[in-house]
This record gives sequence, structure tokens and C-alpha cells, in this order.
Amino acid sequence: MPSTTVIGGGLAGLACAATLAHNGESVRVLEKNEAVGGRMSVVEADGFVFDKGPSWYWMPDVFERFFSQFDASVSDFYDLQQLETAFRVYWGEQDYTDVPSDANAFRELFESLEAGSAKKLDDFMDTAKQQYAIGVQDVVYRPSLSISEYLSPSLIFKMFKYNAFGNFRKAVHSTVKNERLRAILEFPVLFLGATPERTPALYSMMCYGGLYLGTWYPKQGMYAVVEALKTLCAQGGVEMHTGAPVHEVEVSQNKVKSVQAGGRTFESDVFVGAADYRHVESLLPERQRQFTESYWKSKTYAPSCLLFYIGVSKRLSGLQHHNLFFDHQFDQHAREIYDAPAWPQKPLFYVCAPSVTDDTVAPEGHENLFVLMPLATSVQDTNEQREKYYDILMRRLEKLTGQSIREHVVYKKSYCIEDFKNDYNAAYGNAYGLANTLRQTAVLRPPLRSKKLSNLYFAGQLTVPGPGVPPALISGTIAAHEIQKHLRSRP
Ligand SMILES: Cc1cc2nc3c(=O)[nH]c(=O)nc-3n(C[C@H](O)[C@H](O)[C@H](O)COP(=O)(O)OP(=O)(O)OC[C@H]3O[C@@H](n4cnc5c(N)ncnc54)[C@H](O)[C@@H]3O)c2cc1C
Repeated sequence: MPSTTVIGGGLAGLACAATLAHNGESVRVLEKNEAVGGRMSVVEADGFVFDKGPSWYWMPDVFERFFSQFDASVSDFYDLQQLETAFRVYWGEQDYTDVPSDANAFRELFESLEAGSAKKLDDFMDTAKQQYAIGVQDVVYRPSLSISEYLSPSLIFKMFKYNAFGNFRKAVHSTVKNERLRAILEFPVLFLGATPERTPALYSMMCYGGLYLGTWYPKQGMYAVVEALKTLCAQGGVEMHTGAPVHEVEVSQNKVKSVQAGGRTFESDVFVGAADYRHVESLLPERQRQFTESYWKSKTYAPSCLLFYIGVSKRLSGLQHHNLFFDHQFDQHAREIYDAPAWPQKPLFYVCAPSVTDDTVAPEGHENLFVLMPLATSVQDTNEQREKYYDILMRRLEKLTGQSIREHVVYKKSYCIEDFKNDYNAAYGNAYGLANTLRQTAVLRPPLRSKKLSNLYFAGQLTVPGPGVPPALISGTIAAHEIQKHLRSRP
């Protein structure tokens, strides 16, 4: 009998399983869908290969650190290339800024748009670099099971010295006045799922990780990371069950005894809820749950999104690999996501065109587009709304880049809130889990270990450290380390 059963074969679940297996534990993974990868899956159709979720590969050091546990390196699994232009931001028709991946060129861009800003940017990035070091060395790899993990005088000193508890937006606004530069500096924290004014300044670390450590792309797409994890799991002998949704959890004497999936009963010493946290808790008998529905409702979720996977039968102009359409103010759209949930009046959106750099993801002479519009988790998702916004976004894309696109679309698939619920049992149809606000950071997030069931652990974007591909790898890794301690302490 395997010592550990992992519920959910997304990134966090696979990272946890691979780490445990590499360290000598026997592990099984039970995944609901026919393929593993979770939100980082692929859609393949008519010669196009679309990354279904993540497209930004940031914080390459976290990936290296993950693979180094296996005495391996990223280059053992996939070819990583740094994009020269990290992203293009459209401010209006044919009016855009190309943001370079290289830190010196980034600095020059600032100086060209606001005289004197390069020096201020240096100060901002020096602090961001220190915060990145604090974040990566002292915070994100901690299990955050107790506040005592953070009560080290040197950590507290560094947190205050580098203004970790300050306000991120204030830090940006005191650095630059130019609205475009402010938008560029604020963009990385949108990955945390909260607005810049609700984000602690500690997360300036994202600016350093995203804007100064480079924007990267694994050849053949982001799914290469999942393929790497699958290889590591196979090397460690992990028993992989796909098409195996766990629908019942049996509890006995304050421990999980077994789970039911695909008509079978699976027993083990330890269980890991690496599917959405709220969903895993909902499978438990009510008195064994740590959180009520009103707790989950009171949380700040990172947004959901409306997505389109689009195949175009010609090559397009005016697009880089990553393209942000910031021709409207974000604050209005942010209110419609967080404060007064509604379909947005003037949405900002993002287009990834991986075929600009990778000819394996679209047939020759075609373009592969991934269009993403952030959306509140609780709005009604209907086909009519999806089509209405397809029209709005595509018209804007055509106008801003100055070309016809819709009449050349040969493949189109939409994806939204109801799909997140159906495919991943996502709480309220969230895309990126629980936002990293000050009140939802570290020990203030749902914990990695159940307080009610002694052998139940959690991993993934609703627990520590938070949403995103690097955090999902970290989450699985720290859950594995806690489980190893648990297993070693067995009588
Ligand atoms: C559209 C989109 C774009 C994104 N873009 C980026 C990006 O550019 N860069 C970045 O770093 N991050 C990005 N992210 C975030 C990142 O993809 C996620 O944070 C990460 O993949 C979450 O991994 P996870 O393992 O926590 O969850 P999941 O991927 O959801 O894995 C959970 C798994 O559990 C399975 N499951 C659910 N219920 C059950 C059950 N009952 N039994 C068995 N299995 C079950 C699910 O099928 C799923 O496979 C994006 C996410 C989305 C959705």
C-alpha cells in the first residue's frame, strides 16, 4: 500500500508526488481528468497546440531550485529561451511600448519616458531585489503552520528595513509619475490576484522576479513543465490514476482512512488534498471540516477569466509573444472584479501569441492566439455573454493592431467560470485561487496541514504560498517535506 495518496494531479500535486517518491516514499496520484496538469493543460485541435492556462514563465530560479532536488536541471527537460521583448503594451491604436526583458534596456525605457526616473527605478528595484531575497529565502518555502516560524529578529528587521508591510501602490507612485510607467511597474502584482493598492509592498519582489529576472518560454509551450513532472513521477515509481475523481473521504479516529474514486477504495498513511482546498474539504464529513461556507465566501479570490483559444489562418502583424491591452483604465475594471462584481464595461485584456516565437504550436502560415479577459468569480457565465465579449475583444484587437482577424479565424474555443467549476471543482469558478492580500499571506492562508485530521495535508494555489506556477511547485515541495517528517515519526 502506498504511504501517500495525492488527490489532484495539477502542478502542486505532481510536485508533491515527485518529491516524495524521489525521497523514497511510495505514492499514488488520483486525478479527476483524463490527463494530469490541471490548469496547466493543453488544448490540441486542427494542428494548433494551445496552452490552456499559464503562459508567463517568470522566476526561473524557482524552477531550477525545484529540479535541483532531483539532481537535475531545467535543461534536462526542456529548452528555455529568454524573450527579448518581455511584453508589448498597447495604450491606443498603433500606440504601444515594447518592454524589454533585459534590465539595462528596461532602465533606458524608463529614462526615455520620464527624465530622472532611471535612478529612482534603481532604488525601487534594489528594494524589490532585497524583498525577492527575503521572499524566496525566508518566506515562501516555509510551511507557515505557525507564526513562530516568522518570529526571527533578523527576518523582522529585514521586513521593516525593506518596507515589506508598506503599500505596493504607494511605493510605485513615489517612484514614477508617468502613468504608463506606473502601469508597467504595477502589472506583475496582478499575478497575485489582488489590486496594487491592496497588495503589501513585499510583493515588489514580483517586479524584480518578473521584470528583471527575465521573461522566458519553454520551447513547445508551458506544458513542457508538466511533462517534466510526469517524467520525475515515473522515475520515482508514482502510481498514476487518471479519470479518477475522488468523491468520498472516509474518516476514522481523526484520521482519513480511505478515499473512493472510480468505484475503488484507496487507503494510505497520509493524504494530500491537492485539488481546490474548498472542494477537498467539502468531501469530508461536516464536523471534520476546518472551514464553513461563510469562511470561503468571505475570502478574496484571484479573478476568474474569460478565455478564447483562437487559430488564425494567416500571420498577424503588431503582436509580440505577450501583449497587454491597457487602452482603458484598470481601476474601473478592478472594481468590477473585486468590489461590485459585473461583466466589465471597458475591459483590459491580454493576448498571448506563442506562434510568434514557436513554430511548433500552429500550422505553417497560421497564428496561435490565447485571449484572456479577467473577470469576477461570481458573475453569470452564459454563451451569450461569451459571444458578446468575443466580439468586443476581437474588434478592439483588430482596431488597435490595425488589421482584420475575425474573418481569418479557423478555430475558436471559449473557456470561462463554468468550465473552471466543471473541470477543476474550482471554488466559485476561480482561475488562480486565493489572492495574496496582506490578510491572506503565509499563516493567514488556509493551512498546509489540517487542524482536524492528523494525516491530511494540502497543496496548491489556495494554500501557501499562493497562486502561480512557481508557487504551485513550492507548495507541493513544502507539503512533501512536511509529510516526510510525519511519515518518519510513525511508530
Ligand atoms: C487562465 C490561467 C492563466 C494563468 N497564467 C499563469 C501564468 O502565466 N503564469 C503563472 O505562473 N501562473 C499562471 N496561472 C496560475 C497557475 O496555472 C496555477 O496557479 C497553477 O497551475 C495551480 O496549480 P494547482 O496544482 O494548485 O491547481 P490545479 O491545476 O487546479 O490542479 C488541481 C488538480 O486537481 C484535480 N481535481 C479536482 N477535483 C478532484 C477530485 N475530486 N479528485 C481528483 N482530482 C481532482 C483537477 O482536475 C486538477 O488537475 C494561470 C492560471 C490560469 C487558470
